[in-house]
Amino acid sequence: MVHESQDDDTLHRRGLMLILSSPSGAGKTTIARKLLAEDDEIAASVSVTTRPMRPGEVEGKDYYFVDKAEFDRMVEANEFYEWAVVFGNCYGTPKAHIRDRLKAGGDVLFDIDWQGTQQLYQKAQADVVRVFILPPSLDELRRRLTGRGTDSAEVIAARMDRAQAEISHWDGYDYVVINDEVEGCFEKVREILAAERMKRTRQTGLIDFVRGLMRG
Ligand code: 5GP
Repeated sequence: MVHESQDDDTLHRRGLMLILSSPSGAGKTTIARKLLAEDDEIAASVSVTTRPMRPGEVEGKDYYFVDKAEFDRMVEANEFYEWAVVFGNCYGTPKAHIRDRLKAGGDVLFDIDWQGTQQLYQKAQADVVRVFILPPSLDELRRRLTGRGTDSAEVIAARMDRAQAEISHWDGYDYVVINDEVEGCFEKVREILAAERMKRTRQTGLIDFVRGLMRG
């Protein structure tokens, strides 16, 4: 449960920022979706974008939609952990919503690459937990990237190159999980999350609790 205020629960903890990265084909998106569906203490990070809203998208759920002037103002005011231009539109990770959620004891999930991971880590080190998901073998990665079998050998080779370049950044992560089987990989990510939630420094409400125990 995510708490409204820091004072209403002696066992309050500060939320964490869980980053999942992997080369495409390693199964990160499946793990992220399962986590969001099965753990109500974690929510996906919602970015700010200047891109027009697509049919079916919801403000505050898919993105926070703003115009270019507002985005520029937010950049100037240092309101993003990171931002980038993608296909001519601006996208950024807003600090304010994330900080509010962490303070209320909620966790935030990021499905981002190693560059985004580095930027977030530089700005919010104490709150960040970095998990890298690896495929079990190159053959298995190739099989997963081959898709429906309609892509040319060049396209598949380019995907393999990209994936291997991403794998080379594995040493920028706190945890590495090999995804040889989705359920097992998911359970390992949940164990990491459970342990990180129990870190003393995150259990901000423990001070009063422990003082109570010592007084008793
Ligand atoms: P789309 O417009 O299709 O939702 O997203 C386009 C691209 O923008 C995707 O590749 C996505 O990863 C990227 N993107 C979405 N949000 C952010 C963000 O907050 N920061 C950065 N750097 N890229 C983002």
